[in-house]
Amino acid sequence: MGLNVALDGPSGAGKSTIAKALAKKFGFVYVDTGALYRSIGLYVKRRGADTKSPEEVVPLLPDIRVELKYVDGSQRVILNGEDVSDVIRTPEISMAASDVSAIPAVREHLLDLQREIADTNDTVMDGRDIGTVILPNADVKIFMTASAEERAKRRYEELLAKGQDVSYDAILSDINQRDYNDTHRETAPLMKADDAIELDTTSMSIDEVVEKISEYIVAEEKEEEIPFRTIPAFRRYLYAVLRFVVSIPFKLIFNIKYEGNENVPQTGSVIIAGNHITWFDPILIAIKVKYISSYMAKAELFDIPVLGLGIKLVHGFPTRRNSADASALGRAIKYIRNGYNLTIFPEGTRMKGGKIGRAKSGVAYIASKSGVPVYPVGISYKGHLCFRRTIRVRFGKPIMPEELNLRSMSKTELKAAGEKIMSTIAELVK
Ligand code: C5P
Repeated sequence: MGLNVALDGPSGAGKSTIAKALAKKFGFVYVDTGALYRSIGLYVKRRGADTKSPEEVVPLLPDIRVELKYVDGSQRVILNGEDVSDVIRTPEISMAASDVSAIPAVREHLLDLQREIADTNDTVMDGRDIGTVILPNADVKIFMTASAEERAKRRYEELLAKGQDVSYDAILSDINQRDYNDTHRETAPLMKADDAIELDTTSMSIDEVVEKISEYIVAEEKEEEIPFRTIPAFRRYLYAVLRFVVSIPFKLIFNIKYEGNENVPQTGSVIIAGNHITWFDPILIAIKVKYISSYMAKAELFDIPVLGLGIKLVHGFPTRRNSADASALGRAIKYIRNGYNLTIFPEGTRMKGGKIGRAKSGVAYIASKSGVPVYPVGISYKGHLCFRRTIRVRFGKPIMPEELNLRSMSKTELKAAGEKIMSTIAELVK
């Protein structure tokens, strides 16, 4: 996997200029994803279909093959064998691209192509949903903005310099219209990823923006050289104290029996995945695992005053249930790379009556992308949870990433890998 820089932002923020400059400076491949949507817009227009109508656009998709080629370092877009790089640069096609990009099937059609390029190259990819959807775990995520007036002014001057007869007002209204379309569509709307760095470029020069983003890339390149870092000592001490204090009441109230002690992880940068039956499962695991962990927790918990703060203190981060929460996945991978363990409950929600539920795809995705083992934990108790009830916490042998058989990261593969993890946990609960 290459180093990926995701550069998102509204139309005319200067993303392509900046992305090209960065790609040149670092020798990365520049991927202009807007050109892909433009090619589809062009094709639909040529066929005389309505670019706004999913009923007319979707049936055309199987006939559309878009490829990106690189000639002397610059990107060429090939639509069914024809180089359309230049003809897609008109205001009419800009609007057509904006229309078709709101259709989910169009976005789906272009997804794999974008991910494949990022998987095999160091890239600077510019677009609207790169940091949120296409590359949720991009190494550097920038959200570039500028006021609509400033963006219109830049485009106006650019077109004037090319000798085109344009009106500033028309450009401004075009930008406002595309902003509206991009932020209001249902699928992958233009949005800053939680972990993206926002850069308002209204009063910055091109060089200044390039310089600023370069700093982040350089820092990331350094980090890549040390894939797994160790956590500063004071953090580890703080975590040890917290673990000790929190463990006291639980050890008094319950009779916690740990089994499979030889399988308890002794290092950082692993995933610990358990079944979820009590609200204090994370604590049951933390009492036994010395190494500092981050926790994926449902977003609602962060709204509860003291608890929310407590979870943050032990490196908890929110995930929204029932959605592939891209930024949570990105943060999980980042924590692992930074030396933390990740404690996760793949079922996503607490199960009643000791049942084992299905895994959400997140755990397999994280395991595969970070390339670390998953330590399964089975938690069980009999009857009702009452004073001095015996709770059994059993650790199983780690599952290595290659055992999860994730090659294409397709939905089917992720599902199968999630099932494997859950069935291993189910064995431990028996
Ligand atoms: O970036 P560019 O102006 O070339 O993009 C053309 C249009 O394609 C945008 O207005 C936007 O609606 C759409 N687009 C998108 N997602 C991307 C890139 C572009 O929806 N990743």
